[in-house]
Amino acid sequence: MLKKNDLVTVEISDLTTEGEGIGKAGAFPLFIKDTMPGDRVRAVVTKLKKNYGYGKALEILAPSADRIPMRCPIARRCGGCQIQEMDYQAQLQFKTRKVQNNLQRIGGLSVPVLPCVGMEEPWHYRNKAQVPFGRNKAGDLVCGFYAGRSHDIIESEDCLLTPPEFGNILRIVKQWMRNFGIEPYDERDGSGLIRHVLLRKGFHTGEILVCLVANGESVPHTADLSAALCAEIAGFKALSLNINQTRGNTILGPETRQITGPGAILDLLSGVRFRISPQSFYQVNPVQTEVLYNLTLEYADLTGNETVWDLYCGIGTISLFLARKAKKVYGVEIIPQAIEDARENARLNGFMNTEFFVGKAEEVLPEWYEAHPEEQIDVITVDPPRKGCDEKCLETIGRMQPLRVVYVSCDSATLARDLRILTEQYGYCVEKVQPVDQFSQTVEVETVCRLSKRAKKL
Ligand code: SAH
Repeated sequence: MLKKNDLVTVEISDLTTEGEGIGKAGAFPLFIKDTMPGDRVRAVVTKLKKNYGYGKALEILAPSADRIPMRCPIARRCGGCQIQEMDYQAQLQFKTRKVQNNLQRIGGLSVPVLPCVGMEEPWHYRNKAQVPFGRNKAGDLVCGFYAGRSHDIIESEDCLLTPPEFGNILRIVKQWMRNFGIEPYDERDGSGLIRHVLLRKGFHTGEILVCLVANGESVPHTADLSAALCAEIAGFKALSLNINQTRGNTILGPETRQITGPGAILDLLSGVRFRISPQSFYQVNPVQTEVLYNLTLEYADLTGNETVWDLYCGIGTISLFLARKAKKVYGVEIIPQAIEDARENARLNGFMNTEFFVGKAEEVLPEWYEAHPEEQIDVITVDPPRKGCDEKCLETIGRMQPLRVVYVSCDSATLARDLRILTEQYGYCVEKVQPVDQFSQTVEVETVCRLSKRAKKL
C-alpha cells in the first residue's frame, strides 16, 4: 500500500488536459506536475485518494525525448507556462490529441482532427500585459507577477511571452517612480499610488500604449515619464491613467483618462483596422488570431450573397472579417462597451453591412428570429467563452437551420458537448476540426470547426 511521503520511481506515460504527467507506481496512478510522457522520475507521494494520487518530482532519472531546457528561470513559480519544458512540436501534438480525446469522450464523435496549426515564433506573442507593482519583503520596489496563491510579487520584467519592449518600459516606469518618490500601492493598508501598469502593443502598427493604474485621481510628474518613454521606446504613442480606488482584486477601475497621446492605439488584423483603448477587449495573440479567423472565414465559404450571424461577437473581429465577403453580418455580444467598439470598428473600416446587438445570444437570437422568420440565414458563427453555448442558443440555431455553422472554441470539452447536440438533435454533421495554437507553452488550445446541414436521408 502506498503512503504519503513514500518515495517512488515512476515512468510517465500520459498527460492530463491540464499538462500534468500521469504514471503508475506499481498499479496505482499518480499525477505528477512538471513531468511529461517518456520521463522516468523519482517522486514523493504528496496526496492520496482512493483510486489515484499526486506526487512531486524530485529528480528526472531519464528524460523524455521531448524534454528541452526551460528557458525562463521562474517558469515554475509563475505557473503561466505549464509545458515550457516540452519541445514545441510535442506541445502541438499534445493539443491535437487533447481535442481528439474530448471530441471522442464527451462528443461521441470519431471525426478526424487536423494537426494543430503552430506559431512561427512561439515566444513573445502576447500583445498585452498587466503588471502589478509593489514592494517585496526587503522593501524594494518590484513589479512582476503574483506568486501562486499569494499576493507576494515575484520580480519579473522580461516575460518571454510579451514583446521585449515591455521589459524596457517597466524599467523606465520603475526608475521614474524612484526618481520622484512615487509609491507603489500597498494592498494591506490601501496606501501608495501605482497599482498596475497595463501595456498594449499593436503588432502590425508597432504602436504602444502605457496605462498607469493608480489608487488616486492624479499622478504627479507624468510629463517626465512621457518624455522618458518618448525618448527610449520606439512606437510609444499613448500614456493613460486608469483610476482604481477600490480595495479589491479587480485590476482596472471604471474611469480612464488620457495623459499623453490619443488614449488608444490602432492595430490591423488581415487588413481590418481596430482601435484599442486600455479597456477594450482585443485578442492577445494577433498573429494566430489572423490564422484562426481566416480559417473561420474560409469555413464560412462566402460568395458575397450570404447573410450571417456572429454570436458572442466581442468587438466584432469575426464579424468584420466576414463583412468583407458577406451581404450582411449581424453580431451579438453581452458587454455593451464591446458592442460600442464593434460599431466604431465597423465605421473605421467603412463597413455599411453590419448590425450589432447588445444582449445574450440565447435571448437576442430567438427574439430576432421570431420577428424575422422569413429572412434566410446562410451561416452562423459562434465564438463563446469557455462554458460554451447556451442550450437555448443551440436550439435556435437548430430551428433556423443555416447551411453552415462555424464554431470557434477556446475549450474543447464544451465544444465536444455542443457538437454532440448539433449533430444528434439538429441535423448537422462535423466536416472539419482544426485546432490552432494561440498560447504556446501553455495547455490551452483553440479550435475551429465547420458543420454543415446533413443531407436528408431518402
Ligand atoms: N470573437 C470575439 C471574442 C469572443 S470571446 C472577438 O474577437 O472580439 C467570447 C465573448 O462572448 C466575450 O466577448 C463575452 O463577453 C461574450 N459573451 C459571454 N456570454 C455571452 C452570452 N450569453 N451572449 C453573448 N455574448 C456573450
